[in-house]
Amino acid sequence: MNNAVPEPLQPRVIPRAQHKISRRSISSGALKVLYRLHRSGYRACLVGGSVRDMLLGRTPKDFDVVTNARPREIRRLFRNSRIIGRRFRLVHVMFADGIVEVATFRASPEPPEVPDGWEDGEEEAAGHEEIAPNGGPEENNVYGTAAEDALRRDFTINALLYDIADFSVIDYVDGMADLEAGVLRTIGQPDRRFQEDPVRMIRALEYRVRLGFEMEAETEAAIGRNRSLILEAAPARLAYELLEALKSGHSRGICSEWRRFGILDLVFPEAAAAGRALEPVLEALDARVADGSAPADAVLLGVSFLPQFVSILSSVRRDGDRIDNPALLVALDEILAAPSLRLHISNRNHHLLKQGLFTVSKMLKAPERGRQVTRLVRQEYFTVAWQLYTLAVEAGLLPPEPHAAWRKAIRKLEAGEALPEPEKRRPRRRRPRRRRKP
Ligand code: ATP
Ligand code: MG
Repeated sequence: MNNAVPEPLQPRVIPRAQHKISRRSISSGALKVLYRLHRSGYRACLVGGSVRDMLLGRTPKDFDVVTNARPREIRRLFRNSRIIGRRFRLVHVMFADGIVEVATFRASPEPPEVPDGWEDGEEEAAGHEEIAPNGGPEENNVYGTAAEDALRRDFTINALLYDIADFSVIDYVDGMADLEAGVLRTIGQPDRRFQEDPVRMIRALEYRVRLGFEMEAETEAAIGRNRSLILEAAPARLAYELLEALKSGHSRGICSEWRRFGILDLVFPEAAAAGRALEPVLEALDARVADGSAPADAVLLGVSFLPQFVSILSSVRRDGDRIDNPALLVALDEILAAPSLRLHISNRNHHLLKQGLFTVSKMLKAPERGRQVTRLVRQEYFTVAWQLYTLAVEAGLLPPEPHAAWRKAIRKLEAGEALPEPEKRRPRRRRPRRRRKP
């Protein structure tokens, strides 16, 4: 948007009786926040994904609140809250059933910040100008009206407000019509909106798949024209969207959309190179998510490496069978290095991923001794290894028999049963250096 003072915008107001948002579908935490702000004399609305999803009859992932209260005022109203974010201060209000994010209406079109906790360090903080803590002039440039706040958002269906004052839906962007027609459309000229923040292109394709919406023709054409701008997006934000896609339950569809638009090979060339081999893995992942499991980030990231990992396994087999461990570790470092840098994968996730994959290679044969199982299961990366192994088997990348034997052993262990130790074996030579084959 430009910086000119916007015309006073008349929104379309859809009264309570004419839409299907019920307060029963709003989390109790979000309701508390909305009511307290309202009773304290502020405007308070739900916005974004929660309004969209409730209007579609879906269950929202989370509830974002917007208000004209300033962060410090919000903070004062809720004891269980903290101000977060580097540039735009958001307030997180903590409840037993989750966090409610409360933001002050903003005029600025700046893209959102990376959520907390993704990166190891706070190294990006240094470059950002801080908002004066006591509300200097900068603060007044950043914050705005409800209309401005709606207009700076990405897609029309994401800019609807649900106003707790009268339970109406407020629509500054013709989002309701798009929602009813199942159309995904940028707010404003799509080229400009994608140039302003290229991550919106990735999000557009993600929403199209997740919601099963049509993409408005100009919005779609603009992705084609601007796709290479995605390379300028902040790594942490790309990683965030990638993880969102992987945990959405629609990762297979989303990846093929990213591929179709030539975005996958820019953002995640390793996944693009895996080609169709990735599809059964993503399908297995989506099935897990549909069953209600929420894999850790290291597992989500690891999924994209499984096809490559399996082909590495065959290249590091020595003497036909035995895996050359040092060679495997070197190869793992090689495949993880570039994407770790590019996507700012944290040291911890890198470690979990590497050790996890390495551990999968240890489980390609049925366990021979109980001790082997107890030792592995204890490791912090075991869950990552086990979930990746399971997904690889479900995707048909690795044979199911040893996996089944491991599963049986793990179940026994969990049930407190003793695992069989093998009968007396001949003491093994340290390493069978050469094998004489007839
Ligand atoms: P989800 O169901 O995935 O949470 P969401 O629509 O809530 O979907 P979020 O990433 O949680 O998506 O963002 C919340 C809201 O913030 C969006 O609905 C949109 O209004 C706004 N938003 C998010 N990212 C951008 C962006 N890059 N540019 C403009 N507005 C954005
Ligand atoms: Mg959301």
